[in-house]
This record gives sequence, C-alpha cells and structure tokens, in this order.
Amino acid sequence: MTIQPNSLEARDKAYHLHSYTNARALERDGALVIERGEGIYVYDNAGKQYIEGMAGLWSVGVGFGENRLVEAAAKQMAKLPYYHTFTARTHSPSVELAEKLIQMAPVPMSKAYFTNSGSEANDTAMKIVWYRSNALGKPDKKKIISRTKGYHGVTIASASLTGLPNNHRSFDLPLARVLHTSCPHYRVFKTEGETEAQFVERCAQDLEDLILKEGPDTVAAFIGEPVMGAGGVIVPPAGYWEAIQKVLKKYDVLFIADEVICGFGRTGNMFGTTTFDLQPDMITLSKQISSSYQPISALLINENVYQPLADESAKIGTFGHGVTAAGHPVAAAVALENIAIIEERDLVGNVKALSPKFLARLKTIGENPLVIETRGVGLIGAFELAPREGFTAGQLGAKLVPLLMEEGVISRAIGDSMAFCPPMIITDEQVDTMFDKVERGLETFAKQLT
Ligand code: PLP
Repeated sequence: MTIQPNSLEARDKAYHLHSYTNARALERDGALVIERGEGIYVYDNAGKQYIEGMAGLWSVGVGFGENRLVEAAAKQMAKLPYYHTFTARTHSPSVELAEKLIQMAPVPMSKAYFTNSGSEANDTAMKIVWYRSNALGKPDKKKIISRTKGYHGVTIASASLTGLPNNHRSFDLPLARVLHTSCPHYRVFKTEGETEAQFVERCAQDLEDLILKEGPDTVAAFIGEPVMGAGGVIVPPAGYWEAIQKVLKKYDVLFIADEVICGFGRTGNMFGTTTFDLQPDMITLSKQISSSYQPISALLINENVYQPLADESAKIGTFGHGVTAAGHPVAAAVALENIAIIEERDLVGNVKALSPKFLARLKTIGENPLVIETRGVGLIGAFELAPREGFTAGQLGAKLVPLLMEEGVISRAIGDSMAFCPPMIITDEQVDTMFDKVERGLETFAKQLT
C-alpha cells in the first residue's frame, strides 16, 4: 500500500506509537484505519467491510453501533460527566453497577472495586493479596502463581503474571514473588503416551510441587483464566480445574479467576466460573462488561478477602489505592446498559445455541491438512496451523491473517493459532458466512504454499 502524504496513515506513523506492533514495520507499512462499525462488521477507510471475528479485542459482545449504549453515555455525560469514588464519595452509576455485579456474581462475593483496564484490575488483585497477608500477620505469604501462556495484562505486576515471553523480554520482568506453573495444553505439553487424565494429574502435581518447593507459608494466591485467551484459546482438559482447586484449598492459597475475556457470556454461561465449576475468592472483569464502549474493569472480592482488608484500612487509616477514573460514572452507566442488553436479548442463550455450529465449523477446518488442532468453548475458539518446513513458529499465522482479511474476516494470529471470538450478537447464518470466508482464505493459502 502506498501511503499518501498527510493521510491518516502518514500522520499515524509520524506521531503514534502502537501497542503490540513492530515499530519499524509500522514505519514501512503503516496501519489499517478502521472508520466505523455496525453489528458484527467494521469498515476501513476505503469502505471495505470485515466481519470482526475477534469482537475487537475479545470484547465488543453486543456488537458495534449499539445506540442504547450511545444514549446511556450521553445521558450520563449531561447529568454528571465525572465524579470520583475516593474519600467516601460515590454516585449512582457506580453504586448500581457494584450492586448488580455482586448480585450476578457466580459465587458469593462481597464487594466490587473499579479500575479502568483488565491490567489494573489484576494489579489491584495482587496488591490486595499482599495487603491482606500483612493484615493477617503473615508478611511472608506473598508469592503469586500464574501459568505459562496465561495472559493477565501488561502493567508491571500484571505483565509479571502473564506467562508469555514477549511481555517479559527486555522489560526486566517478571517481578520477584511471581511464579509460573504448567500450562494445561494437553496436545503440546503431554509426554509420550500420557493420557489426558494423567496429564491433568501432572499439572496439579506440578502446582503442588511448586508450592512445596517455595514453602506453603510463602504462597498467597493463584491466578488463572477459566479458558486461556491470548495464550492461544487453550481450553483445559476435563478435571483440570477440580484438581487445581483441590491443591489451592489444601495449602490455603487464594484463587483469583481472571474473567476479563470469559465474563458476560463468552463461554455459554454468564461467567467462565460457572462453565468450569470454579470457586474463586476474587474475580476480575473487563472487556464485555461494557462491550469496550467505555474503559472499565472490576475486581470482585469475597468476605474472606474483604474483612482483613477492611481491618487493615482501619488500622492504617485508609485503603491507600485508587485511580482517578475508577467507577467513572459514564463508563459505569454504559456497563449497566450493556449488561441489561446482554440479559434482555439473552445473548448468553445465543452463545449457547450457536456454540455447537461454531465448534463444528472449526472442527471441519481441523480436517484441512494445513491444520493440526482446533479448540474452543461457547463462542471462543481457534484452529492451529501445523508446523511446516521452512517456517519458524508464528510465521504461518502472520501470513494467513492478511489472506483472511482479503476475504473480509478479522482474526488474530497467536503464534500459528488463529483465534475467533465474534460479537455475541452473531447469527447462525453469519457464523457460516464467517467460516466460509475462512475456508476460502485457507484455500488461497494452500495454493501459495505449494
Ligand atoms: N486478563 C485477560 C484474560 C485478558 O485477556 C486481558 C486482555 O486481553 C487482560 C487481563 C488485560 O486487560 P487490559 O488489556 O484491559 O489491560
């Protein structure tokens, strides 16, 4: 693509540093400008239509162009565009949203705490774990375990929790006191002849061994996504969560469920916690909480976490934590309306109803000789391209993305796994259209490779 002088593309590369982008490649190639969105579609500045097969960043659950959210934002903007929640101040949208989240929580929770991104919610969870251990007179109980390939964000603490090399490399991370245990991706990490049940047992044993090696009195919490998203859509094998939770209970280790992707319907239940029968002490939420129309995230904590925290804040005189826009009234109003839409239109029911077709179409793609595995649950899934001579890991995925875009589908390559997480408003027919396009893209790819 030739970049015209003074075009948006030219100004973008002149002034804008992008996340998750090779800056030198951007200088050369420029960025794709997305101009508008409607339903499951987005349109670029040349007018080309794409099915947003990733719902943005796993997040635009109710689809693009939802006028009810625009109106909710405008109404709240006019009434109270901003107020904070520091020093015992509050406002109606943050009260209503906190109440709603505690009422709809999949396991008993006590309080909701607001931040602006999934990363901040997980950072807060980690700080609260430390604060609580100090409150309980256990200053050595501070280590937090996450998993290889887990994704929990990019701030210093949450990037440490993330178990992906690109989030650590050259950033001098992870922080001390963050440990990583094994990833439950059976196909990749099984040993010769190991059954799925034996693999699950080994994952739980790895966790127990790590806790014992570090000393149970030093391990405070474990964080995990019910289904790993940005690590490649890794659905854990049957029995995995039961085995892991048994170990956590045995050693008095708090469980933080990172529902930033799974929350609000993605897995076919309102929460991944229900789909996988989890008993977390804390839950982090973001993305589909507002369908990303506004930046907002929440951390839910149970009584077991809240009570010591409250005691410590009384001892010190304050809970010395909080960001300016926490519980922002406009973001909270949009989140409330977004949750109302998810409930009224039964989008969780839609995910459940369409999931068999979504997974079946992926499975058919899995029969293509270019593909080694397909994975998924609800309306989140991936197919993984088989390794190929002459290509290093990730190169195949990077080559397929533009071919799918030519067909009019946005997917995301995670290494050589192509992820799909469409808006939850997608219809049966649109699921077919999306995968028809993907199959055409794969046909072109096969021709290019031969
Ligand atoms: N946790 C999970 C499971 C995520 O997928 C993400 C983002 O993709 C995050 C946390 C971080 O959220 P944010 O990008 O809003 O900081």
